[in-house]
Amino acid sequence: MTKQEKENYKNRLNEKKKEIVAHLSEFKSDSLEIETGDVQDTGDKAESSYTKEFLLSLSDTQRTRLTAIDEALKRIEGDDFGICEDCGKKIAKKRLTVIPWAPHCIECQKKEERGF
Ligand SMILES: [Zn+2]
Repeated sequence: MTKQEKENYKNRLNEKKKEIVAHLSEFKSDSLEIETGDVQDTGDKAESSYTKEFLLSLSDTQRTRLTAIDEALKRIEGDDFGICEDCGKKIAKKRLTVIPWAPHCIECQKKEERGF
């Protein structure tokens, strides 16, 4: 994988991450802000660490995806991005283009879905 390709995937991952987080802050300002009251020591937390409340307010799908995106962003800094976590084979580029946070190749994903 070239540096340029990695850069592209990284941008897509960061965009997707922003999408989820932005969606959540909209939701938060609508419903949760009034209840919290205690606002001290917010705002100075590292962007990559989420508060418990934040994670709890995510749906399961969003939470799973956000975790997967973070994992992929970690992998992209090393050399194992695009390598299947189960079988160690390269994940097809087509698949990575659609789901850049995918940790498994399509074969392993299918196996998992079948319950093996
Ligand atoms: Zn695999």
